[in-house]
Amino acid sequence: EPLSIADFSKKIGKPITEIVKYFFAHGVMLNQNAILNESQIGELALEFGFDFKKEEVLTKENIFEQLQVEDNPEDLTPRAPIVTIMGHVDHGKTTLLDSMRNSNVVDGEAGGITQAIGAYQVKNKATNKSITFIDTPGHEAFTEMRSRGANATDIVILIVAADDGVKPQTEEAIDHAKQANVPIIVFVNKTDKPGADPEKVKVELMNYGLVAEEFGGDIPFIFGSAKQKIGLEELQETILLIADVLDLKANAKKFASGVVLEAHLDKAKGPVASILVQAGTLNMRDVLVAGPTFGAIKDIENANGLKITSAGPSKPVVIFGLNSVPNAGDKFLVMNDEKMARSIAEAQAEKQLAAERMTKQSFTLDSIKNHIDEGELKSINVIVKADTQGSVEALKGSLMKIDVDGVKINVIRASVGAISNSDITLAAAGQAIIYGFNVRPTANVRNKADEDGVDIRLHTIIYKVIEELEAAAKGMLDPII
Ligand code: GDP
Repeated sequence: EPLSIADFSKKIGKPITEIVKYFFAHGVMLNQNAILNESQIGELALEFGFDFKKEEVLTKENIFEQLQVEDNPEDLTPRAPIVTIMGHVDHGKTTLLDSMRNSNVVDGEAGGITQAIGAYQVKNKATNKSITFIDTPGHEAFTEMRSRGANATDIVILIVAADDGVKPQTEEAIDHAKQANVPIIVFVNKTDKPGADPEKVKVELMNYGLVAEEFGGDIPFIFGSAKQKIGLEELQETILLIADVLDLKANAKKFASGVVLEAHLDKAKGPVASILVQAGTLNMRDVLVAGPTFGAIKDIENANGLKITSAGPSKPVVIFGLNSVPNAGDKFLVMNDEKMARSIAEAQAEKQLAAERMTKQSFTLDSIKNHIDEGELKSINVIVKADTQGSVEALKGSLMKIDVDGVKINVIRASVGAISNSDITLAAAGQAIIYGFNVRPTANVRNKADEDGVDIRLHTIIYKVIEELEAAAKGMLDPII
C-alpha cells in the first residue's frame, strides 16, 4: 500500500510540517500527499531516531510495518550522561578534559594509550558510574550538531577562569546552552591563581540568569582548578546528581543509532569514524547508514584504542568499514539489510548535493506567517545587535512587549557590537532573525548569513523594527522589491 507523508506523520506522531521541512532542508519539495519510497522512509527513520524491528529482513514491502517508533518501557535502562565543556578561550577547557581523562586512565584498561576520538568516558571512582565527555571543546561543534538536529549533549559545563571572569565566549556559551535547554553546571577554574576571585564570578553570572543555589537559584557552582586537579571529584558528583534527576535512559536492546563525531580517511584502514551511540547496541558486522555513507562494521575500538565487539548507549567508539567518510554531525542507524542501507546512503548523498546547490531559505521574515499558520511557531526568536547599550535595552524592551495572536518575541541574544559570525551560527541553530540597529555585518559575515539562510534586518528607528515584526507575524509584510 502506498504511503504518503500524511500517513507517515500519523504513524510516527510528528507533525507533517516537520517531515516536509526535513525534505525541504535537503533540497526536495514534497507536499503531504507525496508518496514516500523505501529509502525516504529509511531516511526519516534516521532523522527522527526510529529504527526497525530486528526479526525480519527489510524489504520495500514491509519497511513501514517494520518501523519501530516507540520503545517498550521495560527495555529502557539507565545510560551515562553526555557532557560538553564550554567557555572562553584559555579558561581551561582542554586542561579540564585532559585532567579528568588522565586521572582516570592511570588505573584504566589500556594503561595510558589514549587517542582523541571526539569523546571519551570516565568512570567516577566513588560511584563507579560512567560519564561521557564530548572532547571537542567549544560551542561551534555544539551548535553545528544542534543545527543539524543531533542533540548529543545532556549537560553543559560552563568553565570560567576565576582570574578573568565572564568574557564574550562565556556569554555565547550561556546563550547556546539556554537555547538548547540543557542544564548548566558552572566550574569556576584557576582558583589556585593569585588574584583569583571565584565569588565575584558567582555574582557576575547572576546578570546572565545563572543564579547559584545559595542565592535562591538552581545552578551548581564548583570552585576548582583543572591544572591542580582540584574540584574534579565534586564536578563529577554534580554531573551524576543532575543525570539522576534527568533520569537518562535508553533502549540498549535494539539496533544502534547515534551521531558521527569526527571522521577521516586513513591510508591503511580506509574511512574511520568516531561515533557516539545514543541508543541501541552496536555490534561487529552490523550494517549501518551514516549520513551519505554505509558499510558493514569490520572493527570497533574504544577511546583507549582497544578492540571491542559491541558498544551500548552513551558509548563513544571508533568504527571501521564504511564505504566513505561521513561528516561530523551525520546521524547513523543500523539496519539489517545492506541493499537498503546502500540505497538510503545514496539518497542522502544526492540530497546533500541538492541542498548544497540550493540556497537555504530556512527561516526568513517572509516565511514567518507560514510557520505560524502551520502551528509550529509560538514565538519568534530574535537576535538584537546595536551600537549602544541604551539601544540594546530599548529594543529588547519593546520587542518583548509584542504579542500578535499569541505569538511572542523571544530575544535569544542582545548585545552591543557589529553582527558577527557567531551571531549567524546562533541564528541558524535557533531559527532566529537578526536585527542590526545602527550596526552592519561585514561582507564576510553577510556571505555566511546567505549560506546559512539567516535573515539579517538592518534598521535605525526602533518603531520600524516593531512594525516590521508585527506585520510579519500577521502575514502583512510588504514585499521586498
Ligand atoms: P582552553 O582554551 O579553554 O582549552 O584553555 P586551556 O586548557 O588550553 O588552558 C589555558 C591555559 O590556562 C593553559 O596554559 C593552562 O595550563 C592554564 N590553566 C588551565 N587550568 C588552570 C588552572 O586551574 N590553574 C592555573 N594556574 N592554570 C590553568
